Amino acid sequence: MSGIYIHIPFCRQACNYCDFHFSTSLQTKEALVKAIVAELEQRSDYLKDRRIGTIYFGGGTPSLLSEREGFMILEKIYKLYDVSRDAEITLECNPDDLSEEKLKELKRLEINRLSIGLQSFNEDELVWMNRAHTAKESEASVKRAQDRGFENITIDLIYGSKFSNLRSWKSTLDKAIDLDVKHISSYNLTIEEKTRLGHDFKQKKEAAIDDELSSEMFLEMIDRLGKSGFIHYEISNFGKEGFFSIHNSNYWRGTHYIGLGPSAHSFDGVSRQWNVANNNVYIKKVAEGNDYFEKETLTETERFNEYMLIALRTMWGIDLSYLRANFDAELVKHFLQGAERLTKEGNIAVKEHFYTLTEKGKLLADRIAGDLFV
Ligand code: SF4
Repeated sequence: MSGIYIHIPFCRQACNYCDFHFSTSLQTKEALVKAIVAELEQRSDYLKDRRIGTIYFGGGTPSLLSEREGFMILEKIYKLYDVSRDAEITLECNPDDLSEEKLKELKRLEINRLSIGLQSFNEDELVWMNRAHTAKESEASVKRAQDRGFENITIDLIYGSKFSNLRSWKSTLDKAIDLDVKHISSYNLTIEEKTRLGHDFKQKKEAAIDDELSSEMFLEMIDRLGKSGFIHYEISNFGKEGFFSIHNSNYWRGTHYIGLGPSAHSFDGVSRQWNVANNNVYIKKVAEGNDYFEKETLTETERFNEYMLIALRTMWGIDLSYLRANFDAELVKHFLQGAERLTKEGNIAVKEHFYTLTEKGKLLADRIAGDLFV
């Protein structure tokens, strides 16, 4: 089965750390939704496997879509594809959007998984992040969604800001656990150049992230969430049994997907392509039926490196049988040599033909994957 990703590039306000593609002007929202519907039509041959297992509305802030706009997109998808009856349909939302009325709309649209961007329970930190909601609103929004019958809820948490300390992080994790959500995605704050935070960092108004503290917080999270029944199935993702993100898990396994909307990426097994990250240009070019994306065909080396990077971050790890079946013998040899060294260093563990990160290795996931690159 394939997946569909739809990028909704609008936000109420710009969070100080975020470098995703979005606009805070909502003026072109309706035109953009129409362009996404047109793109769906124009690229209807992109996926070879017409059966759809997951639909994911990401952003930006997809909860800014009106019911009619959400319906327009979904109606077109159902018309063009064979969407599985039990498809996972996720919508990213911000707590301040989740009113009773909005939740009813999302039910009518048959959204069955909500990804709620809580980020923090610390009011000062939320103000510093320039989030559009308070911690109280966050907690209330999760409860409202649960009362409306949304069982499959994931929340996002960020750690590592200047407000972080181990004590407050433990209490954040406990609050998240008490909310009884089924899934938690948690990211170490990074300072991206083209963000408000990046700008302030450059001006020396903000300090660098304390990596040692971030590592302690990461390990605390693995321990605390693990004891509460969450399975650490990807470096930044924890899910209760039966509640892993199907869309993202498929992506990590190399399933094909089409991405619609500005900046969205697509993958057909051979090549990757990505849409222009500019709302007005996207709308114009889709209307012209013109090139609105760039494309690259992946070489075997690129596919190999990508597999190292993605597979190593998951609890399933790197599968030697998969490597042997899909890559040249020289690349497999290169992997085995690197893996032997990393195993001796205690960063990788081997079980049957699967290579996974150890607790120690999880702290250095990207560096270890980089070590295995060719
Ligand atoms: S973090 Fe989310 S809500 Fe904030 S600017 Fe980025 S996409 Fe928008």
